[in-house]
Amino acid sequence: MKKNCAYDVVIAGGALTGLSMAALLADTNVNVALVAPSAPPVRDRRTTAVAAGPQTLLNACGVWKKINHAEPIRHIRVLDIGRPQPLNFYAHHHAPFGWIIDNADLLGALKERVREAKNISMIDDVVTRVEADAHFSSIATQRHGTLKAKVLAAADGRQSKLRQQAGIAAHQQLYKQTAIVAMLSHTHPHHQMALEYFMPTGPLAVLPFVSEKNKHHSALVWSTTPDAAADLMIMTEQTFCAWLKKYVGEWLGDITLASARQAWPLNELKAEKSFKARLVLLGEAAHAMHPIAGQGYNLTMRNLGALKKIWRDIKHTGGDVGAHCALAGYHRARQFDTWRMMTAMDGLVKGFSNNLPGFSLLRQLGLSVVDLSPSLKEKFANQAMGTEISASSRKSIKIV
Ligand SMILES: Cc1cc2nc3c(=O)[nH]c(=O)nc-3n(C[C@H](O)[C@H](O)[C@H](O)COP(=O)(O)OP(=O)(O)OC[C@H]3O[C@@H](n4cnc5c(N)ncnc54)[C@H](O)[C@@H]3O)c2cc1C
Repeated sequence: MKKNCAYDVVIAGGALTGLSMAALLADTNVNVALVAPSAPPVRDRRTTAVAAGPQTLLNACGVWKKINHAEPIRHIRVLDIGRPQPLNFYAHHHAPFGWIIDNADLLGALKERVREAKNISMIDDVVTRVEADAHFSSIATQRHGTLKAKVLAAADGRQSKLRQQAGIAAHQQLYKQTAIVAMLSHTHPHHQMALEYFMPTGPLAVLPFVSEKNKHHSALVWSTTPDAAADLMIMTEQTFCAWLKKYVGEWLGDITLASARQAWPLNELKAEKSFKARLVLLGEAAHAMHPIAGQGYNLTMRNLGALKKIWRDIKHTGGDVGAHCALAGYHRARQFDTWRMMTAMDGLVKGFSNNLPGFSLLRQLGLSVVDLSPSLKEKFANQAMGTEISASSRKSIKIV
């Protein structure tokens, strides 16, 4: 840690967003301090579906090769409770729809990369206050005094205290759904297939993880009403797996739990703006969404990639990375994609998580139309799995 010395960027928060921002800056000459409490209170049992764009970013900054296991998704099956016929999407050849990674693995790889970087100091602490003047942000910490930086990047999550302190309002929408996540063990291989089952109470996703000789694992993300989720959390493993099999059927064979279950209440949050004087909000501090299509981290990565380029270029020309024009430029560059993705995810949740008769009929009709049109099917696959299909991989998708 640098005493009495100014950093270019101080990042507050060391989960997926904070660590990813730091890792992306690891190959630049931007001078960074990452302030994060070292041990997370609970192990994150989620997995993340990483799309092609963010994968390229993780690869370029040296994180991808440090990840122990990233399982490609080559087949997506979409089911709707009122429609017996599934929609199937196949990715052929080299380009999968995306990769499933254990969050603990991703966090470990990011941390390792950040530790190697000469331009990044890791400070085990929390930020308590922040004040900006014309030239600097003064960042008070619990145990390391006050740090000075050109800009504070707040990556302190959806309940961001730093956002609240800065007086930036946020719109929140409660979906009245909770996601139960767990790792499943099963007797049949998953063949790199992701299953997305839309039900009025919320979507149920089974995502491919490991399939080796005697070891077959998939990640479960089961979104349902808070009451049903509370029941699912306390029922015995046997009853839980029996319920699960009612929905997913026999294709995975016998299912048991390979991890503890974890519950994540779901809501949508959008900060009114993503920056203020010498402060920028990152990740869920700025935008949080339903994981219906695994888009939250993917959107964050696209935003962080844009911010990295802006800061790297400013540093090259000796400019001020916290200047109003730098942060406003970032906001302008990313606001449309952020709005578009949040609107699309909210639409998916509302369109698929209800059992109003009119909606249900429209949904069946919509899915049948999608089924008949290859280009609509491709768009639907993008939305349903949060994948971005590049021009090259588009050629290799087979729609059945
Ligand atoms: C069930 C579920 C499944 C998901 N699946 C996917 C998926 O498949 N694909 C995808 O793209 N996205 C997915 N997401 C979204 C993704 O997980 C989130 O976007 C991401 O975890 C948000 O990370 P974050 O770092 O912004 O926030 P958080 O994880 O909330 O981290 C905030 C961090 O800041 C720290 N902190 C708080 N206050 C301070 C302070 N004052 N000073 C310093 N540190 C502080 C906290 O300790 C914490 O470590 C999913 C989300 C859920 C709920």
